[in-house]
Amino acid sequence: MSATPMLQLDGLKKSYHGKTALRGLDLTVNDNEIFALLGPTGAGKSSTLLASAGLIDLDAGRVNLAGRDVTEADPATRDVAIVFEGFNLLPVLDVKDNIAFALRSPEFREAEDEISRRVGRTAELLRISHLLDRDVGTLSGGERQRVAIARALVRRPVMFLLDEPLSALDLKLREGLRAELRQIHKHYQSTMLYATHDYHGAIAIADRIGIIDGGSIQQAGTIEDIYRFPANILVGKLIGSPSMAFLEARIEGGKVVVKGAAQSLPIEDFGTVATTSGKVVLGIWPEDMEVGPAGVEDASVGTIYAVDNRGFERAIQVETSAGSFRKVVPLSMPVTQGDPCTFRIPRGACFLFDVESGKRISQMGEGSN
Ligand code: ADP
Ligand code: MG
Repeated sequence: MSATPMLQLDGLKKSYHGKTALRGLDLTVNDNEIFALLGPTGAGKSSTLLASAGLIDLDAGRVNLAGRDVTEADPATRDVAIVFEGFNLLPVLDVKDNIAFALRSPEFREAEDEISRRVGRTAELLRISHLLDRDVGTLSGGERQRVAIARALVRRPVMFLLDEPLSALDLKLREGLRAELRQIHKHYQSTMLYATHDYHGAIAIADRIGIIDGGSIQQAGTIEDIYRFPANILVGKLIGSPSMAFLEARIEGGKVVVKGAAQSLPIEDFGTVATTSGKVVLGIWPEDMEVGPAGVEDASVGTIYAVDNRGFERAIQVETSAGSFRKVVPLSMPVTQGDPCTFRIPRGACFLFDVESGKRISQMGEGSN
């Protein structure tokens, strides 16, 4: 895959009335990729998209789009299509005219037969051909969202900026539209920056992911890379389902000692570690944590604090003296809320993080040895 940057954001800073939304944000989205911007509410996702489209004034930083510095450029000249949370449709027009709207604007002005050809083809792609003559007021949520996407798509912009485009829809619709977005992406070879707070949605659609929090990118890469080398505690908290387990530990006499646990782990397992003694946070993906019934020899002891039924599986929360973690277990494993259990941390599957900065301080990543 080519790695020509389509969108490059350098040191974006933005605050609203003294409240910081972007804190020197850097981001590169490559040509023809779907890049998911994953982060909680308030992380700065919308501000990043608005800045890329030129719809907010930045305090600092540069925006480069398709090889051109557009920091000062008028939004209308950027040729990006933005689909916002909620549906920005024009209620006085029918579906057909809503989709055609941008093509009739002064910047794009296309011939009417070309417009109707493009509207027809786009509607087909989004399976809304049967809705073209309807008033937008009569459409369901999913239909409106398809029209909103069609409206952006018909222009064939150099890039799509999608701001939680599916989050208002129910699960089934969301999955269907996500698949269609991937189809469209394949069909048009378009570049998409897709903001979402939904971990599953992000990994399902994206080629690469950027974890955003506190107005900056915490880490960017493929989901596999992020799993193997999580940059910091924030990333561990925002990735995975359930997210990373964090346990209080300390480095002492060449070993990593987990608070109150039966085991300790040789420091060599972690590669070169930036510190040789003192408190650390041990991180492990819950899938790698071994949990068993009470009484397993040499294992550490915990308590099942909560049990969450998920149909074909259960998620349990385990309390230990080093902290609590969540893990999915099969239905065949007997678990009762309040019961004691045991856990074991396998060698070579953990990360160490700095207590203060939250940064990963162990060099070894999962599976890298
Ligand atoms: P996200 O899309 O990830 O939820 P936003 O970019 O919308 O994040 O917001 C980032 C931060 O900036 C939040 O703390 C939010 O409250 C604040 N913010 C965003 N827009 C405005 C605005 N127009 N006025 C004041 N504060 C804003
Ligand atoms: Mg937002």
